[in-house]
Amino acid sequence: MQAIVLARRNVREVDQIISVYTAEYGRRDLFARGVKKITSKNTAHLEPFSFVHVGIAKGRDMDHVTNVQPIEYFSSIRLDIDKLSLANYVVSLCARVFEQNHPDHHLFTLLLTWLSSLNTSRSTNIFVLDAFIILFLSHLGFYPSFDVCVSCEKQLDADHDKYLGFSISSGGLICRSCRVTYMNQHMPIVSFTPHFRRIFRGIFSSDMDVICRMHVPKDVEDKFHTLVYSFLTYHLGVHIPIFSFLGEE
Ligand SMILES: [Zn+2]
Repeated sequence: MQAIVLARRNVREVDQIISVYTAEYGRRDLFARGVKKITSKNTAHLEPFSFVHVGIAKGRDMDHVTNVQPIEYFSSIRLDIDKLSLANYVVSLCARVFEQNHPDHHLFTLLLTWLSSLNTSRSTNIFVLDAFIILFLSHLGFYPSFDVCVSCEKQLDADHDKYLGFSISSGGLICRSCRVTYMNQHMPIVSFTPHFRRIFRGIFSSDMDVICRMHVPKDVEDKFHTLVYSFLTYHLGVHIPIFSFLGEE
């Protein structure tokens, strides 16, 4: 079956458990016997985010990897330290969030498309990662509300109003007056500018290749990342600071 490698971890001296993501079965954890031996033919193909065809045999507790055929190694990502960091981040996130035996064709396609676009894109910035996270969260049911205030349901004009807030906990925009109430109650709020509305619109309406080429000014990109990362950690409880992958700070 076709699979994207998410993670590998050691068990005993030469064996590993390989987590892969498949369209048919969702995440699968597979036992790879002897994969750390230097004579193993499979080990190079089982690097994280490789797209492979994997042969499987039924095991008593866990299914076994029998053979691996590479489909796409995404070599441009592996040659670029920034791209590599982003790809490793995304598969680590998926390995934590995706459950075993919960197939989701849409998420499989999203992950594969994102890797392919990152592989061919010329520029690399954290926005490409944030776009993935937003699409990923939206598919899981966290599609942000932009048109009405999530608190009082007042109609909003997110394209022009510079004083809106984004409520991390409610997952959407809040009007100026509700923003004050939220802040007084110490509820997590991020400032939301018309620029963000354009970014969200671009993410939801563009192909992945176009998203990878979108130009976002650095200061806007940093603020947008704060919003996305807060949204991710609040709703999925996943704390993986991107800087631990980028090797900064
Ligand atoms: Zn309101």
